[in-house]
Amino acid sequence: MKQRANQSNANEREVLNSEVPLERDLLLEIIANPSGPLAEQVMAKADMLRAEHVGPEVHLRGLIEFSNYCRNNCLYCGLRRDNRQVNRYRMTPQEIIAAAEQGAILGYKTVVLQSGEDLTFTGEILADIIREIKKIGLVVTLSVGEREPREYELWRNAGAERYLMRHETSDPDLYAKLDPGQTLEKRVSLLKTLKSLDYQLGTGFMVGLPGQTAETLLADVELARELQAEMVGIGPFIPHPGTPLGSCPGGTLEQTCVMVALIRIFLPFSLIPATTALGSISPQGRESALKAGANVVMPNLTPRIHRADYQIYPGKICLGEEAAECRGCIAGRITSIGRQVSEGPGHNPIWLQNQINPV
Ligand code: SF4
Repeated sequence: MKQRANQSNANEREVLNSEVPLERDLLLEIIANPSGPLAEQVMAKADMLRAEHVGPEVHLRGLIEFSNYCRNNCLYCGLRRDNRQVNRYRMTPQEIIAAAEQGAILGYKTVVLQSGEDLTFTGEILADIIREIKKIGLVVTLSVGEREPREYELWRNAGAERYLMRHETSDPDLYAKLDPGQTLEKRVSLLKTLKSLDYQLGTGFMVGLPGQTAETLLADVELARELQAEMVGIGPFIPHPGTPLGSCPGGTLEQTCVMVALIRIFLPFSLIPATTALGSISPQGRESALKAGANVVMPNLTPRIHRADYQIYPGKICLGEEAAECRGCIAGRITSIGRQVSEGPGHNPIWLQNQINPV
């Protein structure tokens, strides 16, 4: 018994004092026991690293969900094309730009333009929207899925600085099963294309997917590190009743926060959102993620009339609030845990450094 206690203390010391990489077996143990004492140590370590590398600031990104049409049929997603229950909408370019303008008035420095894979928004149409938003002085993050490399280039040249596209799971078989017609290989190849175009690259994954193991989750972290992602979004899988996975169990707050912490440890300068999905499964979910290494929050700027129709997962919070209310609520949550709302653009510091001194 005493020997086991000694080993446990040694593991805790290893977690707190170590520089990465931690031993693989230890990492797997931590992932498999997200409510255990080692997981707590990992989150404390991640919070220390967050403070040391990216400071107390939390960056706000105003999210504009401009179209819920999608050509894909991902098994976990409420917006999948076979979900006939969804009331589909597309905002006009003028509406998107107006939402961005409202974001600027509310003090946002970045807007995230997000949609399903909707080819109605051609490369040129989106490039025009990006150029208009750049005139307002905002940083533009895109999250519109898999498109042609020439379109990614067009949008980068139009002024978009960041691109979010989660790899979702690093297990190629699970990926093929969950995302019919798509492959992990293509997703990773497109992520590398985005990186080569000098976007701040965002990837990420879901936690608690059916068929996922601790090994898969560790491989997710390793893939994000291999890609040298500047941003990593991690959310719990939340089963949507309008999908084939509707009756599966979902991911938990504890599991997700441990993965947030490991990303902070493996990529200490990264931008890590405390996702809305976490806030949707637990009232203090976003605060918990912020205490486990996260440093970004994405309040909603989508016009209220469309919000309820953009539900990748059910039970999404903040559907009824005006954009200004969301901004105020989030700021209050951030300061309540002793952090501060960033006044700057919130670029990844390594990316920014490379812009000044290209390597
Ligand atoms: S996850 Fe994205 S690509 Fe897949 S169905 Fe949903 S919106 Fe479309």
